[in-house]
Amino acid sequence: MKNKVLSILSFLLTGIILYTLSNLQATYRAAIDDSSKVKTVYLTFDDGPSYKITNQILDVLKQKEVKATFFLIGNKVEERKEVVKRIYYEGHSIGLHSYTHKMKQIYKSEDNFIEEMKKQKMQYIML
Ligand SMILES: [Zn+2]
Repeated sequence: MKNKVLSILSFLLTGIILYTLSNLQATYRAAIDDSSKVKTVYLTFDDGPSYKITNQILDVLKQKEVKATFFLIGNKVEERKEVVKRIYYEGHSIGLHSYTHKMKQIYKSEDNFIEEMKKQKMQYIML
C-alpha cells in the first residue's frame, strides 16, 4: 500500500515538474521581451538522484536548454554515479543535501551536520 501511494505521488510530482518545465521557456521569453520586468527563475531538485525521474528531468532540461541545481542525497549517489555524471556533464549545478537525509540524526548536533556534509562532499570528489 505504501509503495503504491509513493508510486502515485512520484508519478504526480513528475507530471508537475514536466509541466512546469514545458512552460518555463515561454515564460522566460516573455520576460526577455519586456526587459524592465526581467526576472530570474532558479530551478532546484531535491532528494535525488533517481534513475527514472532525474533522467526524465534532464531530458526536458536539455530539450528546453535550461540549467538547474540538483541537491542530491549521498547514500543514493553511490549506486547512481552515472546519473550524477550526467547532471555534471550537461552543465547543471550539484548541491549538498546530506548523506543520509535523516533529519533527526543530522540536526542532533552541529558536528553531525558537518559530518553529513563532509561525507557527501567526499563522494563527489571520488566520482
Ligand atoms: Zn530533502
